[in-house]
Amino acid sequence: MYCRHCQRRRAIGQKDRHLPKDNLEQCIEYVKNEKEIRDVLITGGDALLLSNKRLEWLLSELYSIPHVEIIRLGSRTPVTMPQRITDELCEILKKFPPIYLNTHFNNPLEVTKEAKKAADKLCEAGVVLGNQAVLLKGINDDVHVMKKLNQELLKIRIKPYYIFHPKEVIGTGHFSVKVQKGIEIMENLRGYTSGLAVPTYIINAPYGKGKTPILPNYILSWGEDTIKLRTWEGEVIDYPN
Ligand SMILES: *Cc1c(COP(=O)(O)O)cnc(C)c1O
Repeated sequence: MYCRHCQRRRAIGQKDRHLPKDNLEQCIEYVKNEKEIRDVLITGGDALLLSNKRLEWLLSELYSIPHVEIIRLGSRTPVTMPQRITDELCEILKKFPPIYLNTHFNNPLEVTKEAKKAADKLCEAGVVLGNQAVLLKGINDDVHVMKKLNQELLKIRIKPYYIFHPKEVIGTGHFSVKVQKGIEIMENLRGYTSGLAVPTYIINAPYGKGKTPILPNYILSWGEDTIKLRTWEGEVIDYPN
């Protein structure tokens, strides 16, 4: 599956192949030498399309680096190929805690019984699961659909982490939505469902300027001694500063 709306879509259309091992060895060397790196994310391509053998090697190399505190995997296989989550894979993942895996469900209909089984296996292997959805017209640009998605994810122990605003990508214009729609969705999550079902809405700023959180406005004005807040129900209150 190619995610044409993906943050990494510039890498699509090239020849499909994994990075050669010596290239990965250079990456590992780099992480070893840069002692401030505490979090390594294996993604950009799908981490679980690596063979078990290559993945085990990569995880064990990273795990042996003392300053690497956590390892994260990006994979859409829990959604698109849940049969990839085998007992053998889980036995490998179990050996390198803490592992965090972010996946990519966009619609509650994707939360199938097969996906649940995959999520159960990962949880039982101690993997902590999160979801990064992309706001897409006709797929999930609806208050009720997005709320349902997040609630269905929590039922299978996946924490909604991000909703990305879709990027402008040639060929995906039919998915594009206005930022107002995203704000309306966020407005109708907070207070209307469990806080656990409220992810962070993100615009990935162009030119690599980074993820920028976008929220409905809950601070109406700043005073020296009090600020004016708007609650999720729309009530305006003064709050001591
Ligand atoms: C999204 C992203 C990350 C991870 O970001 P978190 O907010 O820590 O989940 C890291 N590097 C790049 C280039 C990214 O786009």
